[in-house]
Amino acid sequence: MEIVDQIRNIANIVDIASQYTNLKRRGRKHIGLCPFHSEKQPSFTVDDEKQLFHCFGCGVGGDVFSLVMEKENLSFPEALRYLAEKYNLELPETRKTSPKQRNLEEKLFKINEDTLAYFKKNLFNTSEGRKALEYLKKRNITEDTIQKLKIGYALNSYTALLDYFQRKGVSANDLEKAGLVIPSQKKEGHYDRFRGRIIFPIFTPTGKVVAFGGRTVINAEPKYLNSPDTPVYSKGNLLYGLNFSKNSIRERGEVILVEGYTDFTALFQSGITQVAASLGTSLTPNQVYQALLFLPRLATIIVNYDSDSAGIAAALRAIHISWGKGANIKVLTLPEELDPDSFLQKYNKEEYLKQLEKSPSVLKLLIDSYIREANMNIPEEKAAIVRKVVREIEKIQIPDPLVRSEYLKQASEYLSVDEDVMRSVAQQKTSEEKIEKKESFLVAEKRLLQILMEDKNLAPHVFAEMKKEHFQGLKSEPIFSDLSESFKNGTPSSLPELKQKIDRSLFSLLSEALMEKERAPTLEEAIECLNTLRQYSLENQAIKLKEQIARIEREGEKDKLSPLIKQLQEIKNQLSSLSQRDYKDLSFINRDSVAKERS
Ligand SMILES: [Zn+2]
Repeated sequence: MEIVDQIRNIANIVDIASQYTNLKRRGRKHIGLCPFHSEKQPSFTVDDEKQLFHCFGCGVGGDVFSLVMEKENLSFPEALRYLAEKYNLELPETRKTSPKQRNLEEKLFKINEDTLAYFKKNLFNTSEGRKALEYLKKRNITEDTIQKLKIGYALNSYTALLDYFQRKGVSANDLEKAGLVIPSQKKEGHYDRFRGRIIFPIFTPTGKVVAFGGRTVINAEPKYLNSPDTPVYSKGNLLYGLNFSKNSIRERGEVILVEGYTDFTALFQSGITQVAASLGTSLTPNQVYQALLFLPRLATIIVNYDSDSAGIAAALRAIHISWGKGANIKVLTLPEELDPDSFLQKYNKEEYLKQLEKSPSVLKLLIDSYIREANMNIPEEKAAIVRKVVREIEKIQIPDPLVRSEYLKQASEYLSVDEDVMRSVAQQKTSEEKIEKKESFLVAEKRLLQILMEDKNLAPHVFAEMKKEHFQGLKSEPIFSDLSESFKNGTPSSLPELKQKIDRSLFSLLSEALMEKERAPTLEEAIECLNTLRQYSLENQAIKLKEQIARIEREGEKDKLSPLIKQLQEIKNQLSSLSQRDYKDLSFINRDSVAKERS
């Protein structure tokens, strides 16, 4: 083992950082006053698990080596020596890689695959299943949709699934871990969780089945029942249906978020396929983030929840989560308090699209929610609301200043405040607010950086697929360019090495990105990110070409047009083949071998 790795294994960044400031534990992280700048509110954060630090005030950050280099004013080799002396290197501990955890995950994936096949067979090959099939058809769900979404059926029995797996030698304990059976309260043993239910399997965006949702056909309670959280499934981290809809979301640059799988199914079947379901009203940041992974540029998120207050609250949550990421949010509230499924049953696709077209910007909703909390007749309260709204608008990271300006104009109308006053408020920004409004990475860009920096096993496969055009023009271009270069030379850059080569503000963005809590990455996810970045670059090229074409047309030099139009067509072709592309077709690797390498 290299000395760098040895030190990394032994040195604890929390101990080292504690030499310089008082740290308090907050959840998984430690927080304290920043030793690099003077502050009253602690914004210096140390992540024990990732062994990274970052200051959200001044932007300094990195790993244990960067910390020592920065604070002790040492070069990288000096920092190595400093840490080596501090720790006993004769005791190289292995870091908490947990093959046990990986094995369990693989086992659960396999159980879920088998369960999916079993439920599907039930639907078509049992008399009970055929009744469920009739029920589905009565609800206008076609056989084509049933096949596409891999809908199945759980028999109305306490042991059908249990027996099925017992014959295959799978233990009830493992089934319990998969969330498929429940330990019996009264006597020994377990019983099936899903009984007499139509089953909607829940997949990761890359198509692995990780959980199930069931709708009762025997009037049992609750009407809808989902798998509990398991080692491979956490409810708040997944959007239902993304594996089916991601290409359509990519193509249209928008996503409609609905509550449940029946709403998803109704829209998807009608041909409105840019849709995903949050499986509940509590939309989480991770869910919004997942949808944005497939959207390279200013995206539109349409929240189409029930019109009750829970639905509105969900939309407001989506605003706060997404505005920072540059997404445009609309809220679609269907008439007669109908949910998307009932609306499509009663009316039709065209009516739905009309409603979609009309769906209002969320800005009004946001302002209404502020106004409700305040007395607008009191000048001070009204002023506070105006400032709050301006701050929200300023936070939107839309590259186009015209769009932001338009938001200000709308807000001044809703609040009945003179537009010029609104603009002058926008210009008085305190230094604190300036820090808040910093540049950021695209979602896919950031995720790919996290994957490359954190998963050494995946990196070779990603670099094999990655070309310059994937990162050209991105904010992170210098990072990607160094990483791929150093990787090709067989000496991947460490964080402190990167720090020497890129500018400070960019490194700060990177160290902040690495602090974020993330799921374990997969190769498929990395490839999706690459696809999104490729799309971003192609779309940028297309925009430039279109501008060029418009200029030449204005200037009347028609003979120069045809090569440009040809080029534009070529880019359009590439874009459409991109959304057809599937990581499963990639020749360089198959999924199992990667799974094995990672364990
Ligand atoms: Zn600081």
